[in-house]
Amino acid sequence: MSQLKLLWSMQQHDRRLAQLIQKLKEIENEKKMDDLIVKLRQVEYDVTNKKTRKEVNELKIQRSNSKLEQILFKLNDIEGKLYDGSISDLKQLTYMNKEAQDTKKEFIKLEKEILILMEETEKLGQELMEVVDIYNKLKEEKDNNMKECESVSSQIKLEIKKEKIIISKISSRLSEDLRKKYTTLKASKGKVLAQVYDGKCNGCHMTIPLFIMSKLKNKDEITYCDNCGRILYYKES
Ligand SMILES: [Zn+2]
Repeated sequence: MSQLKLLWSMQQHDRRLAQLIQKLKEIENEKKMDDLIVKLRQVEYDVTNKKTRKEVNELKIQRSNSKLEQILFKLNDIEGKLYDGSISDLKQLTYMNKEAQDTKKEFIKLEKEILILMEETEKLGQELMEVVDIYNKLKEEKDNNMKECESVSSQIKLEIKKEKIIISKISSRLSEDLRKKYTTLKASKGKVLAQVYDGKCNGCHMTIPLFIMSKLKNKDEITYCDNCGRILYYKES
């Protein structure tokens, strides 16, 4: 392969390498800024919140139930004394009657509170199940996405490795002068070789003089564009 063709091939592989590196960067970024991660965190917060509220309610119900038992015990005690005929003092009887009524009211009130709490807790349990379900689905989706990203990124890394090997092989076949020239031009112009289209340099769009065109068509010589300094590459279409 002529030096010119080697240079052309080097540029093609260089460009491919740059594209691969860019693609890898994008995938790594995508992995970090995944929308799913944000959503997952929100749902995770929801799960913890509902779980805590449910636990607090359950504790409240437990406490209220034992209080209810105490009230019931007190009520039975008062009613027992009221109806066993042991108290004959009218004033005391009236007082105890009122106490029994108050205790009954307290009992009914607490019972209502417990019922409301139980309903609320049941609803929370239902909501929690739904949120956990959403969480699991999102987590699965996120894990799958991650796996896919990993597999694509390792594939790109492999391709990058291959391209680097090819480039170094091409580079070793170039003369030292051209290798240096390639590096310098790449740093200053980005594109080292410019293809010739319609008699014009593709790098700067200047018309190539006819005598240079005939040189390009016949030989694989290294020819520079007078205007932009890039190496001209002519490929018959
Ligand atoms: Zn040019």
